[in-house]
Amino acid sequence: MKKQYLLIFVLALSLTFFNSCQKSAEYKALIVTGQNNHKWKESSPVLKKLLEQTGLFSADIATSPEKGGDMNTFNPDFSKYNLVVVDYNGDSWNEKTKAAFVDFVNKGGGVVIYHAGNNSFPEWKEFNLICGLGGWGNRTEKDGPYVYYKKDSMIIDTTVGRGGSHAKRHEFEVRARIAEHPILKGLPMRWRHGSDELYSQLRGPAKNMEILATAYADTTGGGTGRDEPMLMTIKYGNGRIFHTALGHADDGGGPALECVGFIVTFQRGAEWAVSGKVTQKIPYDFPNVAAVSLRPDFKEMTLEGDLAYIGTYDITKSTKYFTDLQSRIRYEAKTPQDYQKFEKAMIKILQSKEATDDGKKLILHELSWMGSDLSAPAIKDLVSNAQLKDDAEFALARLATSK
Ligand code: ZN
Repeated sequence: MKKQYLLIFVLALSLTFFNSCQKSAEYKALIVTGQNNHKWKESSPVLKKLLEQTGLFSADIATSPEKGGDMNTFNPDFSKYNLVVVDYNGDSWNEKTKAAFVDFVNKGGGVVIYHAGNNSFPEWKEFNLICGLGGWGNRTEKDGPYVYYKKDSMIIDTTVGRGGSHAKRHEFEVRARIAEHPILKGLPMRWRHGSDELYSQLRGPAKNMEILATAYADTTGGGTGRDEPMLMTIKYGNGRIFHTALGHADDGGGPALECVGFIVTFQRGAEWAVSGKVTQKIPYDFPNVAAVSLRPDFKEMTLEGDLAYIGTYDITKSTKYFTDLQSRIRYEAKTPQDYQKFEKAMIKILQSKEATDDGKKLILHELSWMGSDLSAPAIKDLVSNAQLKDDAEFALARLATSK
C-alpha cells in the first residue's frame, strides 16, 4: 500500500514538472492554404515555424481542395482560433466559410494577409475591406484607389488602371512610415530587404487602413516611381489585420522569406493582430540599410549557435555570428558575473582542439577588450601557436594595460 502511494506521488510530481516545462502557447493560429500561384507547400510550413518560434502561438494548417476541387468540403472552424493567416490565392470559398471568416474578424479575430494572399477573392467585398489593398484578379478603379506615398505624403489616387504589378525581383529598402506603431517600434527606420517582388499598384477600399512601411519602386528597374505600401494594418469590425506584401517563397525558402526583416515583422504583426501589443524582443540580426540579413534555416540566433559557428569559422565565411556574439555581450552583460559567463564560453573555444585558428582570432580580438585574468592562461597557451602568436600577444598586452 505504502509503495503504491509513493508511486502515485512520484507520478504526480513528475506530471507537474512536465506540465510546468511544457508552457502552452497563449494563442492559436490557423494558416489557410492549399491553392496559390505561389509555392504554398514551401511557405506554409515556414509560416507555422515562425509563429511557433515566438513561443506565443501554436499553429495549424488548413489545406483546401486543389484548384477546381469541391470547395463545399472546405469548412475550417475559424472560431477555434485567435489568428488566421491567409497564404491562399485560389478558388472562392463557399458562402458558409466566407460568412464564418467575416464573423471571426467581426468578433475580434486577428488576421495576417501574406504576400499573394492579397491577390485572392477580387469579387468578395468583405475580404477586400479586410485586406485593405489587393492586386491582380482584374482589379481596376472599380475596386478602389491606388494608395502609396509620394515624397512624405500618402496619396489616394483614383486614376483609371490595373491593380497589381511588380518589377523583376531585387533587393530593396523598406522604410518605416509609422515608426512608433507597436509592430515597428524599436526597429530601424530603414532596412534592406532580401530579393523580392516589390508589389506595386495595389488598389482597394483602403478603409481604416494605416501604412506602416513602404518601399520605393525605382523606375530604372521598371518600377512605378512611387513609395509602395509594404506593411499595413487594417481595422475591420472588432478585428485587427496585419498585411505584409513581402515574402515571395522559392523552393526551400529564398531570400524574401528568409529575410530577417520579413520574419520579424511577420512575427510582430501576428502578435499585434491577436493582442494589439507586441512583447517580442528585437533580435540582433535585424537588418540595417547597409546589408540584407538572412536566416537560411529560419532559426533565431542563439549564444550556443554563435559559439558553435565561431569554432568552425574561416575568413571566407560570414562574420554575422561573431557580430551577434558581440551584440549579446554589449547589450546583455550588465554585471561582472554576466561578463564572466561570456568569457568562460569564449575560453572554451580557445582551448578547443577542434576550433579553427580563424575562429580563435575572433575570440582573441573580443577578449582583448572584455577579458579578465580569467582568460589570461588560455591566451598564453596560444603564444606557442605560430598562427596565433601575434593575436595572442596583442590580447595579453591589452589585458595588462587595461588593469
Ligand atoms: Zn510572389
